[in-house]
Amino acid sequence: MQIGDSGFGIREISFPISNLRTSSFYDPGMPLEIYDEAILRRALHHAGAYLRELPDRPVAPRATRDELMQALDVPLTEEGEGDTAVLDSMAACASRGTMATAGPRFFGFVIGGSLPVTVATDWLLSAWDQNTGIYVASPIVAVLEDIASGWLLDLLRLPSESSVGFTTGGQMSNFTCLAAARHAVLRNAGWNVEENGLNGAPKINIVLSAEAHITIYVSLRYLGLGTKAILIPTDEQGRMRADELRKTLARLSGPTIVCAQAGNVNTGSFDPLREIATATHEHGAWLHVDGAFGLWAAASRRKRPLIDGVELADSWATDAHKWLNVPYDCGVAIVRDSAAHRASMTSSAAYLEQTSGKERDSLDWVPEFSRRGRGVTVYTALRTLGRLGVEDLVDRLCDRAKQMADLLQRDDRVQILNDVVLNQVLVRFGDDQRTREVITRVQQDGTCWLGGTTWKNQAAMRVSVSNWATTEEDIERSAEAILRSIGR
Ligand SMILES: *Cc1c(COP(=O)(O)O)cnc(C)c1O
Repeated sequence: MQIGDSGFGIREISFPISNLRTSSFYDPGMPLEIYDEAILRRALHHAGAYLRELPDRPVAPRATRDELMQALDVPLTEEGEGDTAVLDSMAACASRGTMATAGPRFFGFVIGGSLPVTVATDWLLSAWDQNTGIYVASPIVAVLEDIASGWLLDLLRLPSESSVGFTTGGQMSNFTCLAAARHAVLRNAGWNVEENGLNGAPKINIVLSAEAHITIYVSLRYLGLGTKAILIPTDEQGRMRADELRKTLARLSGPTIVCAQAGNVNTGSFDPLREIATATHEHGAWLHVDGAFGLWAAASRRKRPLIDGVELADSWATDAHKWLNVPYDCGVAIVRDSAAHRASMTSSAAYLEQTSGKERDSLDWVPEFSRRGRGVTVYTALRTLGRLGVEDLVDRLCDRAKQMADLLQRDDRVQILNDVVLNQVLVRFGDDQRTREVITRVQQDGTCWLGGTTWKNQAAMRVSVSNWATTEEDIERSAEAILRSIGR
């Protein structure tokens, strides 16, 4: 093997590759560059062009599926195409084929943008190409994820003994936490669910807020617990009623898991977590909190009262790709009883050489085996923002949501349906039909993008301010576009 300099600052390595590549595009005698910096620079160029255009382009994608197929569905060649040509042809479709979720005026669902340093981190991570399932395969990622875990527990004010897994998102975080819960409540009933499964196991009572997110149901399905749960009624903001929970728990016996919510996906409201935790623990049950975006309220002194008592729960699911604004995909599963967490996720095999000490083997904490070191973007986000930066990110997006509600509310054709306590605003324009029409017109107008929902049997427009880049001016422009779209 020879390593030399190509004269362009690119190091070359040559070795026989005929056994690796059979395609004739690759001349077996041709030196294979360790990496092609030119292609990385090309990606940088395209990314820069995309991001520069972002604040001014229409937010919605303009290309139809047919147009994208026409441009991209080329015949798969025998020899392959040049990498530059392939990259260029995709990039040429980007501004018409993407939803501008990375930009400052996308308010649909709950979708954060990406802080620039986290995009850069993601690129670096791809260059490192680490498989982070076990410590020995990537010490640096294991260490970075350990540090990020500690910082997260600190910022979110959760018990320091908790274990943390970096999953692909909120759904898999809910799944992971509920797997740990399933292990623990059955262990306490003398049943080893990992060995014996659910056949013949004691029945587990599943108690949910009637407003539980759909991914809680999906997780229950994956775990063999089924979706037919006991539902606790909620109040007018979608908060679980603690008095109703108490009544229900009083009727139940045996292993029980309760799921509460921090951050309702429509209203942004918080369940009364302290009361719920007290009632749940008096009953000897497990409390899980789905805080996909709402858990971040703990990082803000102003918003912290909303989430009072959250630290009393047993497990917490959140996303870093929402409020923390790191690239997809990055969720966080946090479990107080780390033994239950590990027991529900771990795998072992003779060839794995897992460590037994304090080194992180990530396969102990998440459903994935081979995986990307997704916690690394959390490390750079938190380290560059600092405590005050994270707090500012939380406060700023809440302020922008309030600004939006205030601007819209000045118009008497607009009703704001929720208490705007966080980053979510529910808007209605008289009746269902008018509301749906306004949503469609706003989406077509392109100044901003937001979606619809049904809240308490009424059609509503949902505004979720989740992007670090959204300015006051973006909110003004968007509010104008929304009011313009009411028409007549
Ligand atoms: C977004 C969300 C989820 C799901 O998270 P993903 O990252 O999309 O898997 C779960 N619960 C709530 C409350 C959410 O807002």
